Amino acid sequence: MQSQKKHPQLFSFEFYPPKTEEGTENLKIVHSKLAELKPDFFSVTFGAGGSTRDKTFDTVVDIQAKGIAAAPHLSCVASTKENIREILKNYQDKGIARIVALRGDLPSGMMSAGEFRHANELVEFIRLETSDCFQIHVAAYPEVHPQSVNATEDFKNFKRKVEAGANAVITQYFYNADAYFYFVDTCEKNGIRIPIVPGIMPITQYAQLFRFSEMCGADIPRWMRKRLEGFGDDRASVQAFGLELVTNLCQRLLDNGAPGLHFYTMNQSAPTLAILEQLKLNT
Ligand code: FAD
Repeated sequence: MQSQKKHPQLFSFEFYPPKTEEGTENLKIVHSKLAELKPDFFSVTFGAGGSTRDKTFDTVVDIQAKGIAAAPHLSCVASTKENIREILKNYQDKGIARIVALRGDLPSGMMSAGEFRHANELVEFIRLETSDCFQIHVAAYPEVHPQSVNATEDFKNFKRKVEAGANAVITQYFYNADAYFYFVDTCEKNGIRIPIVPGIMPITQYAQLFRFSEMCGADIPRWMRKRLEGFGDDRASVQAFGLELVTNLCQRLLDNGAPGLHFYTMNQSAPTLAILEQLKLNT
């Protein structure tokens, strides 16, 4: 973890662009509560294939105008170079300084007719088109990307993104801290020293968490799954257990030198605020 201890800690909160009026109102409240913690930035997801293109843009511009930096996610699957060029130009015009560059996942059955196959090609393209205008963050999978044949191949592919010019990394969420430590160790052995910020998913209910984890390849250890199942409909117990577990995970990561935390907020403030309060962290 030596490489990571040298970096200043970065704290960030991720939102998805709201689809409804009600969602938009909710996000305003969530944003204002989390903004009090003065994170380094808020990030806003992007629907693969461009499905949220305008909404992501509007949400990013709105957040940035309120005084804390916003970073759009940009996924390249099913996109053309022209599409991406235009999006980059729009963000440059708005003074956006940071982008989370991804491949994205198309809904199953949908074929990609785009000009990019993998995120390393997007990172290369952003650098080619905009030089050092943006800080580029890329994704990493300490528990291995679900479509990857094995950890070695996945790591080689991850390295391509770093070599293409990524400045920092945000990981998929995980509940096995050792997976993160091993991943950072592999990075160090391969000369990768950029910040690798752990992605943190608060636990508020388990059915959705299981579904989500199944899709994105995050492991829910058996003991954790069994405990969560045992709480049944008792939401308060799920939340209390989740809070203790995720707080301990964050504490362990930070104590060992993780360069900050990135929270998948799911557009809710309370679970993230509760963890940060327990950590006694005023970001
Ligand atoms: P890649 O780095 O392209 O990797 C995808 C797979 O292809 C891996 O198995 C990898 O091993 C393999 N691979 C990579 N490069 C090569 C290559 N050159 N040759 C052969 N194989 C290769 N999705 C969204 O749609 N919108 C979002 O806003 C979004 N935000 C995210 C934020 C974070 C922090 C994370 C961790 C994920 C996010 N995702 C988002 C999900 C992400 O798009 C998926 O996990 C997707 O499956 C992979 O994206 P990637 O950028 O890691 O892809």
